Amino acid sequence: MRYLLVNPPVYDFAAYDYWLKPLGILYISAILKKFGHKVDLINCMDRSRPESSPGADRYYGRGKFESEYVMPPNILKKYKRKYSIYGIHGEKLNKILKEVPVPEKIFLSSAMTYWYPGVREAALKLKKQFPKSELILGGTYPTLMKEHAALHIPADRIVSGDTVARLSDITGENIPEFEDWPAPDYSGYNAPGYIVIRTSQGCPYSCAYCGIKNIHKGFRKKTAKTISGEIKLLYSKYKLRDFVFYDDALLKNREFKDIFNSLPEELRFHTPNGLEIEEITAETADILKRANFIEPCLAADVIGRRNKSNQSKKLNKAKIKEAAENLFSAGYRSGNLYAYLIVGLPGQKLAEVRKSAEYLHETSLKVKLAEYALVPGSEDAKYFSKAVNNEPLLHNNSIFPSYDISQWEDIFKLKRYVSGLNGNF
Ligand code: SF4
Repeated sequence: MRYLLVNPPVYDFAAYDYWLKPLGILYISAILKKFGHKVDLINCMDRSRPESSPGADRYYGRGKFESEYVMPPNILKKYKRKYSIYGIHGEKLNKILKEVPVPEKIFLSSAMTYWYPGVREAALKLKKQFPKSELILGGTYPTLMKEHAALHIPADRIVSGDTVARLSDITGENIPEFEDWPAPDYSGYNAPGYIVIRTSQGCPYSCAYCGIKNIHKGFRKKTAKTISGEIKLLYSKYKLRDFVFYDDALLKNREFKDIFNSLPEELRFHTPNGLEIEEITAETADILKRANFIEPCLAADVIGRRNKSNQSKKLNKAKIKEAAENLFSAGYRSGNLYAYLIVGLPGQKLAEVRKSAEYLHETSLKVKLAEYALVPGSEDAKYFSKAVNNEPLLHNNSIFPSYDISQWEDIFKLKRYVSGLNGNF
């Protein structure tokens, strides 16, 4: 059977290729090919496609997407910020679609709920070009907002939850569990720039601001042998030094420690999701340093939130300090270690974030402020009205869903302050 996999363009106030790969459809591609199916990929966010005119690669294969300013939807106009479409779209996308063989089934992926306009645009084009092909929408958006997706996206089938777990129904094949999935398929890229993989799926924590439990239930892990084999295979194919772990709780996979024993020395590793503080023992810190993890970032997220639901991570200052000291003893230098802090949680006082940032600074950690986005179905979603929960465009982190526009200047002031602290290293 012939499948077409599509990663749509993105409408947003900002987007940057900061380790942004559609890993779900890269796994689906590998699995379908393993069963002998023909697979074509249209990845609108692939900066290496010949039709794309992005910025040059910057550090470690990251860089700007091509973009074009567009009018924001009415509901976002009051924010008076520039809104753009990122990635391949419009006539360029039409042309690509005309050159692709007619598939029997199409998988359309999605990520953030507030990116649904790009999903809709791709779906309309796909239905027009391939009216007889079955269009299947999967990913985070329909998982968190199935009814909204059913109303706004002209798909024939909407998959809520893990799409790969439903692949057996869709393809009629006996699809393996996560532990036995093949390595993701990067053959659709001219130059992927870096490689993204997962050692695990799901997360053992239950943070109040997160919706992971609605996306992946449980916590599944691959063995060190499997992961190490995948890394060697992908390195031999693409000759790229930069490997990025998409795991939500990388260090909770007990196999982690044995992944790096026999890997090529020139490899570099990155973790866009924060590392679990309580897992950074002296031994783990040493493994991270020897394996060449670049600028590790600790998941400090929220220090001392007076909200029972965040207790699941049991963060405290002493643990953060201990983790940082272990990393410094392993050979990291101040200026090369980071910690995430979330800004913009419902009920959060900016003064608390400032104090937390100061503490991290005293501990010789640079601070990355992560702006809160509303996740429908999460515990924190209850602090927002039904109207806000039901409107994905209002979930966007760039409009600080918990704050009124009149408070934005205070947030920007805090961001400048944190940037000043980071500049001291
Ligand atoms: S925020 Fe991260 S650590 Fe917390 S539950 Fe979600 S994925 Fe897990």
